[in-house]
Amino acid sequence: MNSYKETKKHFRATKILATLGSASNDMDQISSLVEAGVNIFRMNFSHGTHEEHLLRIQMVREIEKARSIPIGILADMQGPKYRVGEVAEGTSLVEGASIQFDQTNKIGNSERLPLPHSEIFKALYPGARVLMDDGKLELIVKSLTDTTFVAEVKTGGAVSSRKGVNLPDIKLDTDALTEKDLIDLEFALNNGADWIALSFVQSVSDVLEAKVKIAGRAQLMAKIEKPAALDEIEDIINAADAIMIARGDLGVELDAAEVPAVQKKLIYQCRRVGKPVVVATQMLESMISSPTPTRAEATDVAGAVFDGADAVMLSAETAIGAYPVIAVETMARILISAETHIKTFPFDGPAPLTVEPSIYHAVAKAAVELAQTIEAKVIIAYSTSGNTAVRIARERPLIPLFVSTVELNIQRRLSILYGAITSCQSETDYEAALLLTKQMLQKADIVRKNDAIVVVAGFPFGLSGSTNSIRVEHI
Ligand code: PGA
Ligand code: MN
Repeated sequence: MNSYKETKKHFRATKILATLGSASNDMDQISSLVEAGVNIFRMNFSHGTHEEHLLRIQMVREIEKARSIPIGILADMQGPKYRVGEVAEGTSLVEGASIQFDQTNKIGNSERLPLPHSEIFKALYPGARVLMDDGKLELIVKSLTDTTFVAEVKTGGAVSSRKGVNLPDIKLDTDALTEKDLIDLEFALNNGADWIALSFVQSVSDVLEAKVKIAGRAQLMAKIEKPAALDEIEDIINAADAIMIARGDLGVELDAAEVPAVQKKLIYQCRRVGKPVVVATQMLESMISSPTPTRAEATDVAGAVFDGADAVMLSAETAIGAYPVIAVETMARILISAETHIKTFPFDGPAPLTVEPSIYHAVAKAAVELAQTIEAKVIIAYSTSGNTAVRIARERPLIPLFVSTVELNIQRRLSILYGAITSCQSETDYEAALLLTKQMLQKADIVRKNDAIVVVAGFPFGLSGSTNSIRVEHI
């Protein structure tokens, strides 16, 4: 299985992660999304039944097989998402009013609201903010008892049953994986998810606990959407296998004005340690109901490329939108256009990295420099674990990175990685392996006679963690 074919059309380095849902629910639709450029699909466990997710996973795997292109599957856990309980129709909060919150299941109204999560009551303090409905409503806590609190409405509006609640000012005493998540996690792992996304990460211990539960069966992507996570972000990045900048909830809990700078900083921090980073939410929001993006959205998608993201995500656009395939095509075109711009104006692209003085990192950096200097057509990397590929990718080369690995699982994991086009082969002899790769690239018309290529490998060949050689070849 290889992802070489795609490259011939036009090489795109930045990957597309698309969420599946009711708008993308049959073989034809999912197949068209792949054709349009999706590299990895997100199954959002905040919505849908296991049956629905299983069908989608099976369809993705069938399409993967039929097209002989590795496709990643990310299972996104709902995490500790807070919601108010049932409320009476017509409930509305008026500015200046005092609202009582309790932990009962009694139907709420404009004077009192049910909030059946005891840990919130334990962590709140007078002055802390309670946000509802994506931050549209804001309340300030005035007084608390053990089982209730009273908050004053600062920005009012209508409240309907099960509206989301965000608590930006407090760190909640809660497990990163809820009871529901644990069931969803086992389901996802049993059905071959390559990545697990952990929502509302608050601390590095959340990541470490989830890793114990995943037990190496998939990679872990930490969603950064709580301000508390930013306090230990370096440790979180180091502990996770990848990061998602979950701008939806992050933009509610933080002032939305701060999101662009946080995005830039997180992308840089992830690149520095070689962890893939995804920019998510509202990228082409208007395309949920329109066949064209706003100019601001196009600029935002391009901005993620200029910042140096590995991947960009579509949520409702592909899950429930009216134009899922057009949204992916649009995204792909914007990405290619932005990447093309960086080729001429490298200073508009991701900044160069200072790498730590290890052989592996130095080899990866030197290979990219060498390849770009001699205008090589491709970089070929033999990477058993995928680590060498990650180290090369973080330099953000503007030429294709062909990763030859030995397992389909690794290929699927690398579907999120900037620039990586993967293939699988079991040849254990270096010269023989290189010959095969060159033949494959030639057959796919990606390289032609006299083209320069740069090859990165480790000796002993095939041993993970041995990257120590760069070789220049001509076809
Ligand atoms: P969600 O995560 O879509 O699961 O909420 C992404 C975000 O918050 O941006
Ligand atoms: Mn979220």
